[in-house]
Amino acid sequence: MTLSLRFEHSYAEQLHGLYVPWQAQDWPAPELLLLNTPLAQSLGLDAQALQSPEGVAMLAGHAFPDTARPIALAYAGHQFGGFSPQLGDGRALLLGEIIDPSGARHDLHLKGSGRTPFARGGDGRAVLGPVLREYLISEAMAQLGVPTTRALAACTTGDRVLRQFGLEPGAVLARTASSHLRIGTFQFIAARGDHQKLRALLDYAIARHDPDLAGDPDAALKFLSRVTDRQVRLVAQWMGLGFIHGVMNTDNTTISGETIDYGPCAFMDRYAPETVFSSIDQQGRYAYRNQPGIILWNIARLAEAILPLIDADESRAIARATEVIEAGRARYRDAWLEVFTRKLALPAPDAPLIEEMHALWAGQEVDFTSFFRALPHALAGAPEGLRALFRAPGQALEDWLPRYRAAAPDVAALAARNPLYIPRNHLVEDALAAASDDGDLQPFRKLLDRVQAPFTEVAGAERYASPAPRDAPSVVTFCGT
Ligand code: AMP
Ligand code: MG
Repeated sequence: MTLSLRFEHSYAEQLHGLYVPWQAQDWPAPELLLLNTPLAQSLGLDAQALQSPEGVAMLAGHAFPDTARPIALAYAGHQFGGFSPQLGDGRALLLGEIIDPSGARHDLHLKGSGRTPFARGGDGRAVLGPVLREYLISEAMAQLGVPTTRALAACTTGDRVLRQFGLEPGAVLARTASSHLRIGTFQFIAARGDHQKLRALLDYAIARHDPDLAGDPDAALKFLSRVTDRQVRLVAQWMGLGFIHGVMNTDNTTISGETIDYGPCAFMDRYAPETVFSSIDQQGRYAYRNQPGIILWNIARLAEAILPLIDADESRAIARATEVIEAGRARYRDAWLEVFTRKLALPAPDAPLIEEMHALWAGQEVDFTSFFRALPHALAGAPEGLRALFRAPGQALEDWLPRYRAAAPDVAALAARNPLYIPRNHLVEDALAAASDDGDLQPFRKLLDRVQAPFTEVAGAERYASPAPRDAPSVVTFCGT
């Protein structure tokens, strides 16, 4: 079986100075653990060939076919509010772009593929737990209808890598994305003051994501507006699932509007808007409730980077960009209402009803995911399950329910719009520990099966739909692992 992969290399060909050509790493024993066969098929890739020795060597970053052109991408970024003019793929490589049967372009990118010139102090490695976490959560997001990068494969390298809690299996994630252009990509060029390259990057991004804007005299401003729109919709979807990204740095914010870089991310179990999972986010900058404000802050950094392209007159450029960002606030609000209108299956947005619902949850430790699945039963005259989700169910809930019923929800639609199975933290932790510590992938595969069909109830799978026990220790996730 030979691997005949047709790659295109538009990024490498058009964006000189925004990457460094790099190479494979000689691993002791690269092995394929997981292959996302449906994704491979949708990309027009031969799943059999990907499982061949050449295929596995590529997916593990061990040896590349001649058609690949491995490069480490350059980018900058604001991390927790502080600017780094040079970050880049310290442990990742872009192999090239795949054109799927519908003509859409996808980056094929490896994470954990060894040190690159951007590695700074890092070891260039990824370990099995975090690779499986990204695989699982990005798959869940895709099935939940959230724009996201996708996991194509997970490989182990055959060696062990030192991490906070000891030696762990080295691993590589192969992922696809509609591009790896980030706000930080623009910041990288802007920080170097190269107007011509900035224009080339904007043109490239527009050709890839907003081709209808090509040649528009107001392309830069309209592009800013499109990115804003995609990102506020994305964050509204996160909010509707209780998803907390954990590291919303500008290098982890895409131009495409896809969720990228699943590090210390998690789904909130019990509703608490101040929830943070990341061990390094001591200030709570990226807490659940802060995500909408942060995304607009990040968009403002994109605006700053492309300011000279918006208008040659700086103060006019600032005024116009500010207008777009201000409009973004209102667009977020609309997107958020749309998400919860859909979750409640309402015929039209009802802001007071949706806000009162959030107020109901305050201090009640309500399991966010279960609340929505309990609604159809409550509407059908069996509110006990819904009440039981509240620490102290009170009059507010009894008042809200008839208001909700009066708003004429489409009860039959609720189950198809609200997931039963999400990657719950305690299940994720157990599955990753079994895989990393005992080499047992069974718990992971079972959990993956459930989150790949998140709306469909399966008999005997109750534990996948249940919150962690109230006395379970809260989960902390770690960044850069
Ligand atoms: P992340 O937190 O994954 O978004 O990474 C932020 C930056 O740190 C990026 O430039 C990464 O390439 C880099 N980085 C993270 N972990 C490592 C590592 N183990 N080795 C080298 N670079 C890393
Ligand atoms: Mg990143």
